Amino acid sequence: MSGFPKKLILIIEDEPQLAALMGDYLQQDDFATEIVDNGMQAVAAVRESDPALILLDLMLPGKDGMSICRDVRYFSNVPIIMVTARVEEIDRLLGLELGADDYICKPFSPREMVARVRAVLRRTGSGNIPVGTGIQLDEATYKAAIAGQTLDLTAVEFQLLKILLSEPGRIFSRNQLMDRIYHDHRIVSERTIDSHIKKLRKKIDGIDADQEYIYSVYGVGYKYENR
Ligand code: CA
Repeated sequence: MSGFPKKLILIIEDEPQLAALMGDYLQQDDFATEIVDNGMQAVAAVRESDPALILLDLMLPGKDGMSICRDVRYFSNVPIIMVTARVEEIDRLLGLELGADDYICKPFSPREMVARVRAVLRRTGSGNIPVGTGIQLDEATYKAAIAGQTLDLTAVEFQLLKILLSEPGRIFSRNQLMDRIYHDHRIVSERTIDSHIKKLRKKIDGIDADQEYIYSVYGVGYKYENR
């Protein structure tokens, strides 16, 4: 028995057997769990229980997972793993930029689900990264700043920036970026990375148009440099 409080995982899922199974596996892995089976109660439950992570089913009675994800993002950066019944749906969801941190497709093995939960928690762990001059990241709020001016980023944009900033000057290939951001490669294309980078650059440009921070290296990938 550890003396640390267990991290709470909120399971928003209307199939009772699946929800119970997910809960069992997570509890075996030393998480606390709470189940919400109706979309209408989901956002209130997130506010009340302040979970460490949310597993959010897409199709729910009352209110769908997409709307819930959007609503939660208005007040919280809690990691969200979206659960969908169709793999084709994932590309569409990514394009909508809901701010989910990962996606799992049904049917999934409970073990894989637990592994994803752990991976997302690791990836989104809080704490500030000191990066000196240039762009500053604040992992607690998913915000970045340039010269004191705040950049509002999506979770994916934040992760991309974090990876690039972790080793200034190093060129990361699109594949390496995908590897680090998405657990399951099959769900994203290289174009997805390009489109996120494009949006990220546009946001940076809106604050500091004089300096380029993210460079594309033709045919290879991207790098961060503070010149
Ligand atoms: Ca459902």
